[in-house]
Amino acid sequence: METNCIFCRIAAGEASAAIVYHDDELTAFWDRRPAAPVHILLIPNKHIDTLNQADAEDTHVLGRMILKAKDIAKKEGVDERGFRLVINTGLEGGQSVNHVHLHLIAGKQLPIFHG
Ligand code: AMP
Ligand code: ZN
Repeated sequence: METNCIFCRIAAGEASAAIVYHDDELTAFWDRRPAAPVHILLIPNKHIDTLNQADAEDTHVLGRMILKAKDIAKKEGVDERGFRLVINTGLEGGQSVNHVHLHLIAGKQLPIFHG
């Protein structure tokens, strides 16, 4: 737990967020500036700065984040219409919060991604 990390604080229940799911390994909550009708972030409770710092011991939680995102997409009723999962990494990747997070974005037609 990094006390100056906003996502660590959300996972620990010390900062407020609209929590969608929480267990001892991961937390999901609504993005405070949604880019689409459904915009939920999934994080490991454990602090990992960026994907560059993830290693083999994080395999389980990173895999679970993808499967949980799929479950949440279904709960939000967007599974069949479709959704997008994104992990921005580092400066050029557009990462603004240094705690690994998976964006679940859905509910509107998203632009075709060309990179
Ligand atoms: P990224 O640019 O990939 O690092 O995404 C960070 C995301 O976190 C942005 O979409 C922000 O709107 C969102 N965000 C930042 N702080 C909070 C917060 N306290 N609660 C919910 N979402 C947040
Ligand atoms: Zn953190």
